[in-house]
Amino acid sequence: MHKLSKIFQPSLIIPKNASVKKQDVTSKSQRLMLEQGLIRQAGNGTFYILPLLQRAVEKTIALVDLYMQQHVKAEKLSLPMLTSAELWRQSGRLDSAEAELMKTTDRHGKMQILGPTHEESITALLAAISPVSYRQFPLRLYQISTKFRDEMKPRFGLMRAKEFLMKDLYTFDIGPEEARQTYETVNDAYRQLLDAVGVPYVKVSADTGLMGGTTSHEYHFPSEVGEDQLMHCRECGKSCNQEVLANGMDCKQCNNANFSKQTGIEVAHTFILEDKYSKALGAKFLDQKGKPGILQMGCYGIGVTRLIAASIEVLSSEMDIRWPLALAPFRVCLIPPKKGSKEESQAGPWLDKLYFEIRKLKGLDSDVVVDDRISMTIGKRLMDAKKIGYPIVIVIGAKAACESNELFEVYNQLQEKESVLGFTETLLEIDRICNSRT
Ligand SMILES: [Zn+2]
Repeated sequence: MHKLSKIFQPSLIIPKNASVKKQDVTSKSQRLMLEQGLIRQAGNGTFYILPLLQRAVEKTIALVDLYMQQHVKAEKLSLPMLTSAELWRQSGRLDSAEAELMKTTDRHGKMQILGPTHEESITALLAAISPVSYRQFPLRLYQISTKFRDEMKPRFGLMRAKEFLMKDLYTFDIGPEEARQTYETVNDAYRQLLDAVGVPYVKVSADTGLMGGTTSHEYHFPSEVGEDQLMHCRECGKSCNQEVLANGMDCKQCNNANFSKQTGIEVAHTFILEDKYSKALGAKFLDQKGKPGILQMGCYGIGVTRLIAASIEVLSSEMDIRWPLALAPFRVCLIPPKKGSKEESQAGPWLDKLYFEIRKLKGLDSDVVVDDRISMTIGKRLMDAKKIGYPIVIVIGAKAACESNELFEVYNQLQEKESVLGFTETLLEIDRICNSRT
């Protein structure tokens, strides 16, 4: 049984108007996560991810794995976090990306990069086994690993940290048309993945920036703390990151300048890279006639820790965390009666029964937590459950103590609805909330 009393969740109370360290807490999600014992700051731009949040991270990883493997047919691997600075020199990025690269030098004086992204590394792998038969392609390889960026000003907690968890997918194709098809496939998987997360998002065309290449799109959660300015053309309906407009302020599609604007938090990014890295590093294939050619590449990122933080930023109130159902640390929290209360003996036995039956529902096997801090009143624990934001909270209280007609208080925190239901109806309601997508 998952028991709340056994979960390491050191909360931090940040006094209102506290001048101390105020500059360190720069977003609502960061403050809420600190207050609720989900994260602790370690250094400037580095964080401890505490057990409850780690559960959300594992769920996000599982969701990303599902869409990468089933929809994109990509294979998961691990690239070394340290890459030789020499590779970055060959791609031309040692200088262009220099300011934000986290560098280290080993005892032999060799400089290594703690990578923010791994185009160089994966392309060097392909180059090392080149030329590869055309039969191997399309080749789609991804990893989920810690990335590093030497941020000038880390801010917004997990949203702009020096160290973060990211999914990076690299694709290799034998021609531009095939690479374009891969691009469509991955973007389609991103759409389905973000639909499954359920936080409103917008897709915009984006600048290729340091990555290079020709085509790029970003996925943003609209939010006041977003650092990107998104432009939506009122004439043709296309959206882009303001960076794309560069000098001119006209829509690239229709040449009008009639935009609505909003700020967004970037959670995912896709690029067609063409042969920028494969040419520089020599990643080749052999075609049907045995003639060598340069591989066409794409790269596709999803900020895993950022996706979680941005979801909390968008869904939460100033007081209470709200999670996407798919990412919540636990989806159901059970609150049994207070120790020594008159309900305890009669309502108490329902706890095991509910816990057991809820776990049999689809996808809820290890997703139920019991707030067993029974020295506290139900009211106090209910308040805590609202703050941490378990999507479903079930109170086993006075109403469950009725001999003939046991009833439970069911709080659907996704829609801020409460109901009082019998045993079977409670199970049906949990199943409906968790397993119907209508
Ligand atoms: Zn337009």
